[in-house]
Amino acid sequence: MTTNKRYDLIIVGGGPAGLTAAIYAMRAALDTVLIEKGVHGGQIAMSDSVENYPGFETISGFELSQKLSDHAKSYGVEMIQKEVVAVEPGLEFHSVRLDDGNTLNAYAVILALGGYPRRLNIPGENTFYGKGVSYCATCDGFFFRNKTVLVVGGGDTALEESLYLAKIAKHVYLVHRRDAFRGSRILQQRVLAECKIEVLWNTVVTEIKADENGVNGVILEDTQTKEKRNLATEGVFIFVGFTPNNTLVPGGVDMNTQGYVVTDEKCETRIPGLFVVGDLRQKYARQIVIAAGDGCIAALAAAHYVEMKKASQECALPE
Ligand code: NAP
Repeated sequence: MTTNKRYDLIIVGGGPAGLTAAIYAMRAALDTVLIEKGVHGGQIAMSDSVENYPGFETISGFELSQKLSDHAKSYGVEMIQKEVVAVEPGLEFHSVRLDDGNTLNAYAVILALGGYPRRLNIPGENTFYGKGVSYCATCDGFFFRNKTVLVVGGGDTALEESLYLAKIAKHVYLVHRRDAFRGSRILQQRVLAECKIEVLWNTVVTEIKADENGVNGVILEDTQTKEKRNLATEGVFIFVGFTPNNTLVPGGVDMNTQGYVVTDEKCETRIPGLFVVGDLRQKYARQIVIAAGDGCIAALAAAHYVEMKKASQECALPE
């Protein structure tokens, strides 16, 4: 790596959106670097099974991540495992500062930063994280073999992860604050047919309790009667949505009230040559295939942008 090296394109983030952008950028012959601080795959790397990525009836999130990463590597894209600390837009080129003090420059930048599991912000959630509180069934489900666990949420993630946990645990309480799930019909049907899963409708968790061995119960509240009760459980898995990772998004970029970045149909922000793709971008649905689609669009648009930028600089050269 070279300090102050100028690339055609810098991609920040190695999930499905960033890796697909890398594939298309390399095919468009852009001098491209992809920066990812952790493992490739982003959130899907932690997913037990993916059943709606076209071409794969079922594949583990880890394997799909590997396939996307290997595909991008097959084109020879440069990959750096570092943390990005700032993205600084410029008129001629944009800069990306790394935590090791190096700065990389490029005509175009694609931010594929994803997001994080949303927190419930209830007593015990932070204190007992790792001691029975978890945001990843694939990572931690193993510790709850033949035990009773509780899942919070009613979206696709909560439904999928409840089904996964039902294969391991003795009993799964699925606590949802309303009387209807948000998740897809097919997952709803599977959850309701799984005898190990007991759905507690119109219910919220107000506190997580523990003893010296870890989580041992929760306090539940009925959202209609406001009645409270204790329930014994050894694990609490929280899947209540998603917070976009917008901390590196520079000023001047439009964001909606939930913190998602607003782009045009090319995934380009208000700042020319700065693109945002995947779960960080405002959109109708958040799916792996859509993240991959974003990556494709942004890379094609970035290739056009870089070509125009280079052409304009050549024209501006003195005789
Ligand atoms: P989501 O769809 O936003 O669902 C979040 C769930 O948590 C909702 O049921 C919501 O209840 C509940 N919730 C939110 N805040 C809560 C709180 N404070 N207390 C109690 N419950 C709360 O989030 P997600 O399930 O993580 O999915 C995120 C996106 O990824 C979605 O677009 C989803 O379709 C997609 N996804 C797709 C797949 C797949 O296709 N295989 C798998 C996973 C995720 P309400 O319903 O009452 O709002």
